[in-house]
This record gives sequence, structure tokens and C-alpha cells, in this order.
Amino acid sequence: MSKPLSDHDRRKQISVRGLAGIENVSDLKQNFNRHLHFTLVKDRNVATKRDYYFALANTVRDHLIGRWIRTQQYYYEKDPKRVYYISLEFYMGRTLQNTMVNLGLENACDEAMYQLGLEMEELEDMEEDAGLGNGGLGRLAACFLDSMASLGLAAYGYGIRYEFGIFNQKIVNGWQVEEADDWLRYGNPWEKARPEYMRPVHFYGRTEHHPDGVKWVDTQFFEGKELRLKQEYFVVSATLQDIIRRFKVSKFGSREIARTDFSKLPDKVAIQLNDTHPAMAIPELMRVLVDEEKLNWETAWDICVRTCAYTNHTVLPEALERWPVELFAHLLPRHLEIVYEINRRHLERVAAKYPGDVDRLRRMSLIEEGGQKRINMAHLCIVGSHAVNGVAQIHSDILKATVYDFYEMEPHKFQNKTNGITPRRWLVMCNPGLAEVIAERIGEDFIRDLDQLRNLIKFVNDEAFIRDIAKVKQENKMKFAVHLEEHYKVKINPNSMFDVQVKRIHEYKRQLLNCLHIITYYNRIKKDPNKQWTPRTIMIGGKAAPGYHTAKMIIRLITAIGEVVNNDPVVGDRLKVIFLENYRVTLAEKGIPAADLSEQISTAGTEASGTGNMKFMLNGALTIGTMDGANVEMAEEAGEENLFIFGMRVDDVEALDKRGYHAEEYYNRLPELKQAIDQIAGGFFSPKQPDLFKEIVNMLMHHDRFKVFADYEDYIKCQEKVNALYKNPKEWTKKVIYNIAGCGKFSSDRTIAQYAREIWGVEPTLEKIPAPDDKH
Ligand SMILES: *Cc1c(COP(=O)(O)O)cnc(C)c1O
Repeated sequence: MSKPLSDHDRRKQISVRGLAGIENVSDLKQNFNRHLHFTLVKDRNVATKRDYYFALANTVRDHLIGRWIRTQQYYYEKDPKRVYYISLEFYMGRTLQNTMVNLGLENACDEAMYQLGLEMEELEDMEEDAGLGNGGLGRLAACFLDSMASLGLAAYGYGIRYEFGIFNQKIVNGWQVEEADDWLRYGNPWEKARPEYMRPVHFYGRTEHHPDGVKWVDTQFFEGKELRLKQEYFVVSATLQDIIRRFKVSKFGSREIARTDFSKLPDKVAIQLNDTHPAMAIPELMRVLVDEEKLNWETAWDICVRTCAYTNHTVLPEALERWPVELFAHLLPRHLEIVYEINRRHLERVAAKYPGDVDRLRRMSLIEEGGQKRINMAHLCIVGSHAVNGVAQIHSDILKATVYDFYEMEPHKFQNKTNGITPRRWLVMCNPGLAEVIAERIGEDFIRDLDQLRNLIKFVNDEAFIRDIAKVKQENKMKFAVHLEEHYKVKINPNSMFDVQVKRIHEYKRQLLNCLHIITYYNRIKKDPNKQWTPRTIMIGGKAAPGYHTAKMIIRLITAIGEVVNNDPVVGDRLKVIFLENYRVTLAEKGIPAADLSEQISTAGTEASGTGNMKFMLNGALTIGTMDGANVEMAEEAGEENLFIFGMRVDDVEALDKRGYHAEEYYNRLPELKQAIDQIAGGFFSPKQPDLFKEIVNMLMHHDRFKVFADYEDYIKCQEKVNALYKNPKEWTKKVIYNIAGCGKFSSDRTIAQYAREIWGVEPTLEKIPAPDDKH
């Protein structure tokens, strides 16, 4: 394999990575050396690669400081409405390269490092991922921060600085093994502690009711077990104290008015709850307004509802938060009283509107009775918010149907905000070659206005453009192949189709359906080894929750299939199966630009939106997928004929549920499916432990909630169409171009502009805050 261009050489050819004057280079070198000396206290004789990374990070960080302070001053003066995005997860990944890209400093830094004899990509690889999230929900929060800043909103993300991020995944003998992620071990140059703003957060204790109000006393600092609930209350309590501190020093607070006028809070503050995890913001805001600020309940409740908004991320019942009342009573006794009072008044309103409908009261209560009493946090969020949104149109529609009683009573609350991704990280940073080819045709404005990608349609028959797009993909594939060889000692054929499914391992995402295709394709090659099979490298990656046994068995099955397929000389390099170890933001950035085919194959109605699907689309992969989540809107935007859509629609799934899903019918009717299942069940992929996968087979045959077999036949046929098109590279690349051209909607800039106008009541701008003097 010929070695691809070095990053330095590639960058020199690429303008989208920042033209910030080459005159910066000598300043950058000087500041880098200054940090190496004064911050790291090292010279070049003893400095390690990590020291160089820290010196560069500090150099780049300096370019943020002036802007940061100027932004604070500007917002203090203008006192715009503030947006608070509260999330238990911010899946940030790395910061150095992203900051250079957003500041337009990347080329200049690269040149500076080059002149100092250092390879910038090597230094970038020293940075730990900030893995403070699990998957899509946390990554969405991170993309939103990028877009809120880019659109000039006075917005803040509030979350927890966990000492350990999501575990590192090792694959040992085919099994997932979890390792602690000690990401702060060497320090974090991207943070600034503010201990001067430290506030107490209370737990446990009891309530005392006095004539002049309620006191929460005898609280303790945290120890004990209820860690998750503590984390949720911790972030909410600290955040609200900071929100109120800032409100009180603002013009509408006591700065210009004698007493803080809380009736203005909803005009000056919007709080967005990322799922129910920060739902405690609702009773906590009520506690502050009623117990501490002495507002009456009705006034406080009106303020609370007009301030808060809630985003729902799933309708899978096992993911809904329902906290036992007992736990609440112990940890947060005052909040339990408040939740009960919210519920009493809420049920009073329901009863007034629907007299005599007792069952409706039971369905709509915030407190679930029967067995252990639980608080339904989604119900609390719906009642306590003025806006409730799903994350893709199909999901928002399903949400309305799922909580129909609430929708019927307050239809005006329900909205849709289709998710998006930031084109800075997910195109310009991770795929500069593609960004450059696009910029050569339509200019660079698409980076902040992704709808302009539509202008690419006129190049869809342009031979040179088709060639350029295909060439970038081939280069990205070569580079990823080299990465895999270096890190995992696997050799892959860069001329094969890179067929990629990366996401959390979960039954609803149906990695098992992918496995059944792999086995079927393998059996077909074995049966007719001389046919011209389209070569495929199938890569699957993702973490299984440590306590989710079935997900861990799915990983074991994938690695077992790989052991057999990859070592079969009859198959050769026409089919390889690779488990991508430790999938995380940084691996997504390396792998997605190299993908030809994106697998988005969840059971219709289960994937709320997906954002991985959008990253692949923007990076020039074609999608094989079901009509689920944002796939539906991707097909609308790119043209359904430019995606490989297969399988049941939501209606079909519901109809099948009514008829009854019987896996054995498919098993008996489809010989290739039967063969694949018999092989898994009979130990073909686990000869030393023939019954290793018996639970998986039993699940698929007898209690598969996600109906894998029902979509098998159509999926296999659809994969045949994928193979046929891949044999025609020009037609393939034309579809890629239609997909890239249809990506505009999936910018998180569009998503955030809609949240701003339709929920938060603020206006996004591209107006620049007057630039500070960057010189010190
Ligand atoms: C985008 C992203 C996800 C979400 O992927 P889905 O396919 O939408 O589930 C998960 N993990 C990482 C690291 C991501 O970057």
C-alpha cells in the first residue's frame, strides 16, 4: 500500500483549515516556547511529546482568553436573555484541533510546529477525550455548545465534571473488558476552576414548617449510595444558584431595581432540560422561589413553567426515569413535598377539565401507584415546562401519541426539533479533504450556512467533481486502513467497500441484523467462491453498558464471526469483519470520513433521531437504513432514491404487533436465515463452546422485542442493491453528491436557531462581538 500524504503536506494544500496569516507563525512559535519554559518548566532536552501537546494547547488557549472576557463584558452590558442548557452529559471529545479550526489557526499552528521539527498530529494524539457522555445524547449537547457559540447566543452549558469519563473498552479474547478512564491524570488545559463561586448543595435532612415558610434543615454532604439521583440534584442545585446569582446582578435583578423582580425571570432566562435527567430543576426552582424568595405558589409556578422546557430523547419504556418515592423522601424530603403539591394541583386541573374520568387521573399522575410508588420524571417535565420537544419529526409524532393525555390537554406545548451536528467538527475538522473539494466549487460560506450545500447539485454530472469526491474518499480509506494496521495489527483491503455500523451496542439498534447479513454473505461466497463478489470490510464498533448482558454477548458474537470469516482462505480479502475497539468521539472522527456505507438499521419507531446517520451522510457515505428517526428526513432531503431504505415502517411494526410476531415463521420460510441461526446455535462460530450463543438464539427465536427476523429478507435484498451499485463507482458517487447536497438541514446551527426562536424566545445572530486585541 502506498503511504498517503503526510498531514503536513495535505494541510498545505488546504485552505479551509484557516488562512490566519502565516505572519502568525513566528508569534505562535515564540508563545509555544514561552509556555514550554514558563508553564511546563521544561526545555527541549527533557520535554516529552505530552509536554509539547500542553505547550501547544496553552498557546492556542491564549487566543480564546481575550474573546472570552470580551464576551462576558458584552453580555453584562447588553444583558440579553440567557439560555441555560442543563445536561448530565457533554460528550466533548478532544478540544485542541477543534479550537484551532474554529479560530482559523490550524494552518499557522501546523507550520509553526513543522518549523520546530514537531508533527502536529502526533501532539494532537496526546490529548485525552473528554468522554463525559455515553453516546448520541451527550454528543448532541456538545454539538449544541458549538452552534450556540457560533450563533452568538448568550448560552451556557451546565453539567458535571466527572473525574472518570465513559470507560475505555478493551477487547480481550473477544469479550468487552472495561477500564477506568482517568482522563484528568495529566491535567486538563481546557478548564478554569472557579472556586470563588463555590456553593453548598444539600442532601438528606428534614423539613420544618413555620408560619413564615418552610425550612429544609439538618442536611448532610453526600456519601452513601443514591449516587445517580445525587448527581442529578447536584447539577441542578448548583446551576440554579448560579442562574439566580447572575439574574440578581443583572439589570432586571437588583442591579437597577431595589428588589429582585422574579416576574421578569422568564424574560431573562430560558432553561432547557436535556432529557429528564435534570428534571429536578422544576421542584428546585419552586423551592427557591417559594421557600427562599417567599413568592406565593401560583406566581412561582407561572414563572417556573414559562422558564423551563424539556427535550424527550426516547420512548423505550426501560429508559424512562421513575424514581422510587422512598429514595426521594430520604434524600430530598422538601422536593418530595413540592412534587406532591405540583401533582395535587395538576390533578385538580385534569379533574376540572375531564370530570369523572378517574382512569385519566391515574394515567396522568406524576406518582405511579401500585407496588413501589414512583415519581414519573417525564410527567413532571411535561407539566413543569412550557415546551416539550422530540428530536426528529417521526419521534415527536410518536411522543404525542405516547403521552396522548398530556398532548390532548395542552397541545400547544408539543414541538419538534430535529437534531443536527456541527459541520465544524464533523466536516471541516475531521474531513478537510472533502471540505476543500466542496469549497473549490461553492466557496467557504457553507461552513456557517450548511444549506448552501444545495449548490453542489449543479455539479452532480461534472466528471472532475465526481473524480475529486471519489479521490478524497479513497484517501480517507487509505489513511484509516493505516491507522487500523498501526493500532490493531489488522490488514484491510482499501479497495473493498467500508461498511460501518458504529453506535452504542443495543438490541434496538440491531447489530444482530448486521451479523445475520455478514453470515449470509459469507455462506454465499462459500457456496459459489468463483463469482465476482463485491469485496466488503464490515466494521462494527460500540460500547455495551457494563450491566447489559445481551449487549456484551452481541459483541462476543461479532468477534466470533470475525474469527471464522477473517481466517477462511476461501473468502480471502473479499469479506473481513472488524470490531472497532473503544468507539468514542475521536474514533468517530477518524472512521466516519472513511466509510462507504452507513448502517442505520433500528426497528422503525425505536431510534428517536440518531446523529451518527447525519455524520456519515455529511462525510460522503451512503445510508442503508430503516424509516426511523432522522433517516426519514434524510430521505426527504436527499431523495429516497439516493438512500437504501428497507424494512417495516412504523405502521407495519404496529400491525405486526397486533397480528403477533412469530420469529419461527421467518426461520422456517427463509432457508438462508435458518442456516445462519443454525450455525450460531450449533457452535459454528464458537467451536470450543458450542452453546456460547444459545441465549442470543433463544432471544431471537422467542422474545425478540425488536423483530430482527421480520426485516431480514428485505435487508438482504437491499444489501444486494448496495453491492450492485458499488460495482459502478460513478453512479455510486453521484448518489453521494446528492446526499452531501441534502445535508443542510442536519446542521446543529439550524436546530439551535429553531430552539432559539420557537422555545427560548431569543434571536440568533451572526453579529460578531467586537474583536479584542489578541496581543497581550
Ligand atoms: C454521534 C455519536 C454517537 C451517536 O450515534 P448514533 O448512531 O446516532 O447512535 C455515539 N457515540 C459517538 C462517539 C458519537 O460521536
